[in-house]
Amino acid sequence: MYENDLGKSKESLVAAREAMVRDGIQARGVRDPRVLAAMRRVERHLFLPEADSVTAYADAAQPTDLGQTISQPYVVAKMAELLGIEPGMTVLEVGAGSGYSAAVLATIGASVLSIERHPHLADRARAAVERAGIVGVKVIVGDGTLGHPAAAPYDRIVVTAAAPSLPATCRVQLRDPGRIVIPIGTRDTQSMRVYTLADGRWEEARDFTCRFVPLVGEAGWAT
Ligand code: SAH
Repeated sequence: MYENDLGKSKESLVAAREAMVRDGIQARGVRDPRVLAAMRRVERHLFLPEADSVTAYADAAQPTDLGQTISQPYVVAKMAELLGIEPGMTVLEVGAGSGYSAAVLATIGASVLSIERHPHLADRARAAVERAGIVGVKVIVGDGTLGHPAAAPYDRIVVTAAAPSLPATCRVQLRDPGRIVIPIGTRDTQSMRVYTLADGRWEEARDFTCRFVPLVGEAGWAT
């Protein structure tokens, strides 16, 4: 498990990441230099259960474990750009999954607290983050729809599972100014929403259409 690179050289992995960023991310309009640098740096193949250095960098979501997925590289990058992360910010992530998106946000310089409902996935995410040499990510097990009040408020909140609506805890646990990025819609299709709070006022914007696995919990779907 977690074989490093299936015989691929370090150089070819760097080249694979470069192609991923150029063709799958920059070509679709992501511009934030900090996001692009982080996507080049984080070793995505270390976050997949059967490390396959070819498919790891493909322009697609990949299955991880327990029916869950690691998001498509573009989606991870676009969400990071929408969040507008600056070094030193605190981020609450709901849905650690493989740990990859948390690793990307931490590489930009955020301090990331990521909640995962499956203990098995949380363990794997922690191991992958460590293996990738990422600091600044803490993974905890729980129902992320309740947030994590003990460490609130957060500068940014990101939900990486499909929500029926914005959980109330997200609003309560966000700092002012702050921002939430969350896919909202049905179980089958969602639109990425950006909620920005400044001086006590909320603004909402919609971005791209997407398809995430369901957010399961008290303020999510029942199963
Ligand atoms: N960010 C991940 C992708 C996550 S897939 C990555 O980069 O790999 C969505 C994850 O959300 C799944 O692992 C799922 O188990 C988790 N999840 C779903 N509902 C949740 C909840 N209420 N609290 C915490 N995690 C949840």
